[in-house]
Amino acid sequence: MAGVVSGHVVVVGAGLSGLATALHLLGDGYEVTVIERESFPGGRNGTWSQDGFRFDTGPVVFTMVNLLEEAFAAVGRTASDYVTLKLLDPGYHTHYADGSRLTIHHDHAAMRAEIARVCSQRDAEAFDRFVVWLKALHDVELPYFIDANFDTPLDLLRHPVAALKLWGLRGFGTLGPEIASWFRDERLHKAFSFQALYAGLAPERALALYAVIAYMDVIAGVRFPEGGMHAVPRGMAAAITDAGGEIRYDCTVWRVQRGLDGSASGVELASGQTVASDAVVVTADLPVAYERLLPGLKAPRAARRGAFSPSALVWHLGVRGELPSGVGHHNIHFGQAWGEAFEDLIEHGRPMADPSRFVAIPSLDDPDAAPDGCHTLYVLEPVPNLRVGRIDWEVEAPRLRARMLDFLTGFGYPTDIVTEKLVTPLDWEAQGMAAGTPFALAHTLAQTGPFRPRNVDARVPGLVFAGSGTTPGVGIPMVLVSGKLAAQRVRERLR
Ligand SMILES: Cc1cc2nc3c(=O)[nH]c(=O)nc-3n(C[C@H](O)[C@H](O)[C@H](O)COP(=O)(O)OP(=O)(O)OC[C@H]3O[C@@H](n4cnc5c(N)ncnc54)[C@H](O)[C@@H]3O)c2cc1C
Repeated sequence: MAGVVSGHVVVVGAGLSGLATALHLLGDGYEVTVIERESFPGGRNGTWSQDGFRFDTGPVVFTMVNLLEEAFAAVGRTASDYVTLKLLDPGYHTHYADGSRLTIHHDHAAMRAEIARVCSQRDAEAFDRFVVWLKALHDVELPYFIDANFDTPLDLLRHPVAALKLWGLRGFGTLGPEIASWFRDERLHKAFSFQALYAGLAPERALALYAVIAYMDVIAGVRFPEGGMHAVPRGMAAAITDAGGEIRYDCTVWRVQRGLDGSASGVELASGQTVASDAVVVTADLPVAYERLLPGLKAPRAARRGAFSPSALVWHLGVRGELPSGVGHHNIHFGQAWGEAFEDLIEHGRPMADPSRFVAIPSLDDPDAAPDGCHTLYVLEPVPNLRVGRIDWEVEAPRLRARMLDFLTGFGYPTDIVTEKLVTPLDWEAQGMAAGTPFALAHTLAQTGPFRPRNVDARVPGLVFAGSGTTPGVGIPMVLVSGKLAAQRVRERLR
C-alpha cells in the first residue's frame, strides 16, 4: 500500500491507541508524527521502577493478540519481531470467600476437568455448550459491531442478519441472568460474569453481549510479554520508527489548530511551536481532550454528563518472601457479597464493604522485575469514580491500604514491604482522565456502539479520535481496534 496516498498526520499520544493508529497509517503510506508528553510510550500501559523493582502501571491482562498482530502487519511486520508473548495457562486463579478455588485454564479439556472436579459434571457438560455460544457471540460482534465505524444509530441496520443473529444469541438480554442460566454453581456465575466490570457495569446491568470479554479471556487466552506488559508499547513504538514514523517524546500538545474552513490543520505545542498536518488524531481521554485541546467546542453529551466506569485503587508492592500455595500470575479473590458490592461501587459511590480484588504477581513470569527472594504484587480494588463518589481520598486511601494489607496477610501473601506505591482516583484525574477513572465511559447501552462519542466531529473535518473514550471502547483489544478505525477515518478524509 505504501506510496499510494500522501499527507501528514499528527497523532496526539503514544498510548496503545495512538501507536496502533500510527502503524495503520504508516501502512497506508502517510507521513506520521506521534507527539507524546511523557518520555516513553504506553500511556496507561506505563512502567515505573523503584528500589530494584519494576512495575507495569496499568493493564496486566492481555488478550486478543490477533488485534496486536493486525497493527504490526500493517507495516509488514509481526508482533514476534518486537515482543515475545507467552500464553499464560492457567489464565486466572479464582479464590472464593468459602476458601475454595477454581483455576481458569485456556486448554478446553483442562477447564472442563476443573469444572467437573470443583463444581459438577453437569456444569462441565454445560461448559462445552457455553464455549460454542461465546464463540458465536464473538464471531458476530467483532466484525459487525466492534470493528466498525458508525455514523448514525441507523448504521446498526447495515448488517440486519448479524443484528438478528445477535438477538437470537440473546446478546441484548442481561449478562448476570444469562450466565446463571448456563451453570448451577455460583462460583462459575462469578468467574464468567465479573468481566462486566471491565465494561464499567454490574453483571446485573450489563448486556449479555459483554460475555464476549469472557471469550477474550477464556478462549482467546491471556498472554504475557517477556519483560512485562510495557514491552508491548515499546515494541509498537520501535516498529513505528522502523517504518519511517516519527515519535516526539517530552512534547505536550496544547491545542488542536484549525484552518480558516474550520478543519484540523495541525497542533500547537506547549512550547509555542506548531506542527502543521492534514489530519490530527487525538488519543488523550476524550472529555479532557475537548476541554483542553479544543476549547470553545462543546463536547458530546455523554462526555459531559455520561456515566463513567468505576475507578481503581492500585497498590504496587515490592515484597520479600515466599508466595502462598495455590496462587498464580493472575488471582481474583471474590468477596462473599456480589450484587451489593456493585451497588456500593456504582449506585452509592462508596468503597465496597466486602470487595472482590485482583492480585497479579508479574514477577512469577518476569523474574527481572524483582530482586532475588522478592516479588512484585499488583493489587487492584475497584472503587467509585470521582463523579459518583464523594470520598475524601486523603482519609480513605490509608484506610483502604490498611484493609488491603490485612487481606494480603490473611491470605498468606508476603507483606515484608520493600517498596510500594498506592494509586488513587485523584492520581488518575491528575494524569488527565475524566472522572478520575482510567476506564472511561461505562458501556451502558446508551454509551455503546453508535451511541458512544463518535471518533469524528463533523464541526472539525480532519479531526479524529481514538482511545477508550470513543468507539469501540475500553481495554487493550478495544483501543487497538480504535486505532484501526481512526486510521480508516483519516483515509476517508484524505482520499
Ligand atoms: C490500572 C489499569 C488496569 C487496566 N487493566 C487492563 C487489563 O488488564 N486489560 C486490558 O485490556 N485493559 C486494561 N486497562 C485499560 C487499558 O490499559 C486502556 O484502555 C488502554 O491502555 C488505553 O489506551 P489509550 O491509548 O486509549 O490511552 P492512554 O494510554 O491514556 O494514551 C493516551 C496518551 O496520550 C498522551 N497525552 C495525553 N494528553 C496529551 C497531550 N496534550 N500532549 C501529548 N500527549 C498527550 C498520554 O501521555 C498517553 O500516553 C487498564 C488500565 C489501567 C489504568
